[in-house]
Amino acid sequence: MLEGDSFQKFLLDECHIRGEIVRLSKSFQEVTANKDYPQIPRALLAQATCASVLMTGTLKFEGRLAVHARGEGPVSLLMAEATDQKSFRSIVHYEDALPDSNDLGDLLGKAQLAITIEPDKGQRYQGIVPLERSTLAECLAHYFDLSEQLDTHFMFASDDEYCYGLMLQKLPDYKYIDDQDAWDRVRQLAETLSFEEVKQNDNATILHRLYHEESVQVYESEPVRFECTCSEERSLNSLYSLGKDEALSILDEEPVIGIDCQFCGAHYEFDRERVNELFNVGKPH
Ligand SMILES: [Zn+2]
Repeated sequence: MLEGDSFQKFLLDECHIRGEIVRLSKSFQEVTANKDYPQIPRALLAQATCASVLMTGTLKFEGRLAVHARGEGPVSLLMAEATDQKSFRSIVHYEDALPDSNDLGDLLGKAQLAITIEPDKGQRYQGIVPLERSTLAECLAHYFDLSEQLDTHFMFASDDEYCYGLMLQKLPDYKYIDDQDAWDRVRQLAETLSFEEVKQNDNATILHRLYHEESVQVYESEPVRFECTCSEERSLNSLYSLGKDEALSILDEEPVIGIDCQFCGAHYEFDRERVNELFNVGKPH
């Protein structure tokens, strides 16, 4: 059975290792609909999207988390954002001439990976690591190593219709357990998983196949969906950061200022009256 858009946590309790699996089918097809992405940027986008959803599993509050890489190579932007409610949006910008390589260095060039955590209430936090590894999975592991000092392992795979991601992470008290081989064993077993196997079996079957000799707790699956967080208010915010003079100069040329959402294609329009009101009243929230 092909499991649809879902997120599921599991715990290898005796090993003190937690895990998560995300699967995207229809929701990822909505992201890529009408975009005609070639295979390489599409696969990168699938990885970043899965990663953003997986990483919301570590959030201890309501809010959202973004995985964001900006580079100087042929792929100039890779961004995915997901909420604690497991809705996401994502985008990739690339040049037509792409190298035939899956190496992040070849695709993004000199680049940084930023992880931004934005609680609905409270302070925004951003962690940045240089993109110095050849895969996104390795870069994310590097990020967790630096930011939380927690060994973390990511796996991703995708095709035209389907993508999945798996994350394993040591619990902070792992260092106190006797079985210090657990991490290597659990990680190596995960690496034996093929994409075909993931597509043909549900999470319970996969986890049983991999970890039947360990004690595994599987938590309830949560639905995942594509949902853009753009709004008129957010568009007004970006218009406000453009500045009054710049905004009004556009209106000398055009009857309205149009803002298109790159994620979902929504179109917002603001006329002179609305723009004047914006700068008279002050920054929208
Ligand atoms: Zn949108």
